[in-house]
Amino acid sequence: MSPRFEANLDWACAQDAADPLRAFRDEFLIPPHEGRDSVYFCGNSLGLQPRAVREAVNAELDYWGELGVEGHFKGRLPWMDYHEFVRDDLAAIVGALPSEVVAMNTLGVNLHLMMVSFYRPTKERPAILIEAGAFPTDRYAVESQIRFHGLDPATALIELEADEPNGLISTAAIERALTEHGARIALVMLPGVQYRNGQAFDLKAITELAHRHGCVVGFDLAHAVGNLPLQLHDSDADFAIWCSYKYLNSGPGAVGGAFVHERHAKAVLPRFAGWWGHDKTTRFQMGPEFVPTPGADGWQLSNPPILALVPLRVSLEIFRRAGMPRLRAKSLQLTGYLEWLVQTQLADVLEVVTPSQPGRRGAQLSIRVIGGRERGRALFEYLMEHGIIGDWREPDVIRISPAPLYNRFADCLAFAEAVRDWAGEGQ
Ligand SMILES: *Cc1c(COP(=O)(O)O)cnc(C)c1O
Repeated sequence: MSPRFEANLDWACAQDAADPLRAFRDEFLIPPHEGRDSVYFCGNSLGLQPRAVREAVNAELDYWGELGVEGHFKGRLPWMDYHEFVRDDLAAIVGALPSEVVAMNTLGVNLHLMMVSFYRPTKERPAILIEAGAFPTDRYAVESQIRFHGLDPATALIELEADEPNGLISTAAIERALTEHGARIALVMLPGVQYRNGQAFDLKAITELAHRHGCVVGFDLAHAVGNLPLQLHDSDADFAIWCSYKYLNSGPGAVGGAFVHERHAKAVLPRFAGWWGHDKTTRFQMGPEFVPTPGADGWQLSNPPILALVPLRVSLEIFRRAGMPRLRAKSLQLTGYLEWLVQTQLADVLEVVTPSQPGRRGAQLSIRVIGGRERGRALFEYLMEHGIIGDWREPDVIRISPAPLYNRFADCLAFAEAVRDWAGEGQ
């Protein structure tokens, strides 16, 4: 059997030259390191800036300067309906109907807004199910919502423990938890991709199980959007939320997003309301009674931050041209190559924590440094000093995420060679 991958620069460069998506890299600003491109593997934390963003932001600044308030109605893309200019691309990326998605706020805010509508605890059903080791915001948000309803997180917050090594959770474990606690659970709130270990969850299977037990289902897609092809509508999830500064490359603190399934489009759900969520056709009659716009738009509070929506629009246009299926095909190869390098060249130094089945992960590999925290930190700092940018998760994990829009096979090889050099220096 001939190996699928090779650990040499000729092979890696040949793959990059044959990559149908290779030109997209040139559309991004790659942070420099000592006069050369750094090897940037941190798109799971902050995606890179598309070159076209600067001009597009400047164009809106010009409209503001030239048009003042008239910019709401004039200009190439009038501000009044600006969030609608990202709607179709956003819907395509998460596999939703356009009316099911909205770009607004940030992830944490959207999570709270969604829980106001979709976490409606009763005496019989007070609980929320999340994964153990959830991202702090998610845990803080659900815990504070539980307290807001006058309930006690000690009984109303159920944290699903891992049943596989490295904090991984099988669908069978979720099924067992639902069998045991399902009748008490109001809301199942799980990630699309777990931020720490990189595990991807089967949204459709989870939704089906949870609905069977009468629970509402929401997903946090912070690490899934722009990373995995999603079919949110078909998953039947009730709601989802995400941020746009990770794989979606929309800039620090970018405008986040929310999905509300079509079946709730016209439901009279309790919500925290604002004028931008009011029925578009009568919003400017400025009446005292709130009538929500049908669909996800009805959860908007404020008129949107136009300057912050510009990078999202530019970025989504890049995703539209690249296409999630092609990006995922390349991502499987790139991450597969990185995993192969770790397993065949670096097994004495590193071990992959993320599931080995490609269907159970996205771009990111969480990689444990063998030998404990100090050794791990030393390697991490060595990599950063050598222009190889990943991120660190206590106590001993480096997250490396090859993003198919701008990373190359040669980047994966550069990572492996740097680790080899460090280990060769007698570490
Ligand atoms: C990145 C991330 C967040 C960040 O939330 P913000 O409100 O955008 O600061 C929250 N939850 C998860 C799971 C994340 O990965």
